Amino acid sequence: MNGYFDCNATTPLHPAARAAWLENTDRFWQNPSSLYREAGAARQMLEDCREHIADRVGCGAEDIIFLSGATEANNAVIAHAAAGGFGSIAVSALEHPCVLEPAAHLFPESLTHIPVTPDGVVDLAALEEILATQRPGMVALMAANNETGVLQPWQDALALCRRHGALFHCDAAQWIGKKPSAGLAACDFLTGSAHKFGGPKGIGFLKVPEGGRPFRSLRGGPQEERRRAGTENLPAVSAMVAAWEAVEAELASLETSRLAARRVFEDSIKMVVPGVQLIAEASDRLWNTVTLTVPPPVNVKWLSRLSTLGFAVSTGSACSRGAGASDVLLAMGLPYDLSGQVLRLSGGWQTTADDWAALAEAFRLVAEAGDRPPATREGIHC
Ligand code: PLP
Repeated sequence: MNGYFDCNATTPLHPAARAAWLENTDRFWQNPSSLYREAGAARQMLEDCREHIADRVGCGAEDIIFLSGATEANNAVIAHAAAGGFGSIAVSALEHPCVLEPAAHLFPESLTHIPVTPDGVVDLAALEEILATQRPGMVALMAANNETGVLQPWQDALALCRRHGALFHCDAAQWIGKKPSAGLAACDFLTGSAHKFGGPKGIGFLKVPEGGRPFRSLRGGPQEERRRAGTENLPAVSAMVAAWEAVEAELASLETSRLAARRVFEDSIKMVVPGVQLIAEASDRLWNTVTLTVPPPVNVKWLSRLSTLGFAVSTGSACSRGAGASDVLLAMGLPYDLSGQVLRLSGGWQTTADDWAALAEAFRLVAEAGDRPPATREGIHC
């Protein structure tokens, strides 16, 4: 049984990624920027990986920049907008702190937050109004939310931005590996992070628009066409590509059964934990995510009791740990008093229907135990 349900924070390494990393860390350890033959082979491998990602999302290889992950990519996009005199920008209230914080820092007077509906979806009518009245130079909307799993209408937001002449940035960190990635590169800027879909930590990519103002983030060496200096991490890049290919290959065939397993879990948890409430239950969500409020005791007690039974869940975004109430859930209208009752359960490529069933059973044991410690893991049947 696999009790890991915190995949929106990070995923275990996919075997295909591990194999690629091990192989290429031995085979291509040379610096891809060096000039001898072996380094040329490493450079070729790096460019093959770039091409592979570009093909997946639908752009030219020259538009893909490798960097350390979505935090760096999102910061770089906002910094690019600030340096480029974009005037004002608009970001959805759902964004990850690595969009919200640089936006607040770099656009202190000219940042608009796009509101969210109680279903956890960005309010497109409000976005249209903002585009028409405030004319932001750039809009940021993530593809799928990390806290609720709610899918965002990024294609519609992109179309609105096109109509109003604003650039569109999409943080697809939670979408990639869980939904098909074809067509994502229609967004002007696009970010992804390998460790959210079975790749290693510390590697990701940024897609930038062709043409326009030249993109620069880290300055130093000439790597990544001078757009992001620093020796490229080729083994990690190749592992990211391998993981992406492996998880995306099974998306279409598994989505129905994955959604069904989650539905069975949701139905059973409502029966075994009286008072539980599913957040954004009626919205289109990633197949891997369930966010809910539990009855007392507080969420951290539930978390530690589930942990005793072998299940890893989260009280919300890993990045809001200790920060108190979730801004995203408050923006959706969750009463402040319920902030301490939220649990996020997020499976991944490795999670089976039996794992969801075992998790429901663990919830039952914790609920039944009341104030006492729950039965041991041996009590779980699935
Ligand atoms: N964006 C979203 C939507 C995320 O969920 C995360 C990770 O929690 C990030 C960005 C940050 O990603 P990274 O860990 O690659 O910096």
